Parts: sequence; C-alpha cells; structure tokens
Amino acid sequence: MRLFDAHCHFDFPEFDECRKQVLTRTRAAGVTGLVMPGVRQADWGRLAALSSPDDGLWYCLGIHPWFIGEHDAADLDALEVAVERKAPGCLGVGECGLDALRGSITEQLPWFAAQVQVAARFNMPLVIHSVKAHDQTAALLRSERWQGCALIHGFSGSYQQACRFIELGCYIGVGGVITHDRAKKTQDVIARLPSDVLVLETDAPDMAPAGVAKGRNSPEYLPDIFAQLANLRGESRDWLAEVLLENAGKLYGRAPDVLAPT
Ligand SMILES: [Zn+2]
Repeated sequence: MRLFDAHCHFDFPEFDECRKQVLTRTRAAGVTGLVMPGVRQADWGRLAALSSPDDGLWYCLGIHPWFIGEHDAADLDALEVAVERKAPGCLGVGECGLDALRGSITEQLPWFAAQVQVAARFNMPLVIHSVKAHDQTAALLRSERWQGCALIHGFSGSYQQACRFIELGCYIGVGGVITHDRAKKTQDVIARLPSDVLVLETDAPDMAPAGVAKGRNSPEYLPDIFAQLANLRGESRDWLAEVLLENAGKLYGRAPDVLAPT
C-alpha cells in the first residue's frame, strides 16, 4: 500500500535538522511521495533545490495570503516566469487563496486572482488555502472562469460548500483535522463525499493530528490520517489508498507511479 502527501511544507526550517531521518521514516511508513507548496517568493529557490521527482519530492510555486505584505507586482511577474519554465519537479501554482482569520480578504483577493490567472495560462493545477472564506473562494473561481483542477487544501466546511467546490473542478484535501474528536462536523462531511474527489495531506509541520504536539506534524503521520479516513468511510484500506493516489495523480497531472515512486 502506497500513500501520497498532497500538501506538506517539508521545505520549512522545522525540518532542517532532521529532514533525512524524517524522510526515511516517512518512506518506511508507506508514504512514497509528497508535494511542497510555495508560500513566499523567498522560498521558491529552496523548493526547487529540495525537489527530486525520482524520489517523489515535488513542489508548487505561489504566494500564500498570509505573506502578501512581503510581495509586490514584480513577484507576480517572477511567478509567471518561474512557472513558465516548467521545471520537472514543479507541479502547480500555490499555495494561494483567502483567509478571513488573518489579514484582509479585500487585500488578498487580487493576489489570489492573479495566481489563478497564471495557473490558467500555463494549464497548471491550483493549490488553494481557504479559511472561513469558502464562499468568496468559490465566487472568485467562478468569476475567473476556472476550468482546471484545484486542491482545496485542509478542507473544513459544510457539505454544501464542499459540493460547490467539487462542481468547480476542485479536489477536497483531507488532513489531520479528521483525527480530532472535536471535528465531528468535518468528519461527517468527509465521510459523505464521493471517494473520487478526496486527496490526502498532512500540511506538516502544521495541522497536527491527534496525539502529535502542535507544530510537530510530519509526513510520517499521514498513515494515521489515512486510517481514520478509512474508518470514517467504512472503506477497505487497500482500495481507498489506491483511489487516493489516483486522485492525486489526476489533480497534479502525473501517473500514480510517477508521482509516488516505490
Ligand atoms: Zn499549507
């Protein structure tokens, strides 16, 4: 059984002292690939340097809504140039989006729209951060006439909101939230969604699953999230693992064997 972490900040300094060891444990746990989303222009070089498609280490390039204040219009031009290069390890645009709990949605909107346009221009999938802003996120995808694939990473919201994203071509990112007893609503929504829209992720080092200290999440814990997902849905693990990997392959435009090499 093979698992794939579709959203993991494995490039963050939290992993600098232990990256090799964590990667060894992650592989031993059956997780044979991961995608590192970009959050700041200053990190893009680091992502490219860490990427290694033969080892299942991929990345995306983007500007996260928390960090728009560090950027200006020239960075959007730089994003376009970097994405156009189509580096072998670069799978998409993001993480970009809207976050009502941090900063101003009005200020975030043009940054999100610009990145949606870059992704559309180069036919790349989008990795979307949407926190307490699902209605605005869906409205923007609609007004930009988004036609491609996208990941709503770390989804937590209502069944109706999930369905609206699915209609817009989005996959629903399932993270550590579902391992917490307090997240009954999200557990319930994820259990009801069709299996062919679900994508597994850790968002490490954030979004620690139950039993893991805050800020200490790691891709090696992906199997815990997976086990809970199979439980909630009452589906066989072997079958579900296969479906989840296929979904990630469709989202990121790579064959499962390429995305998560054994
Ligand atoms: Zn993230």
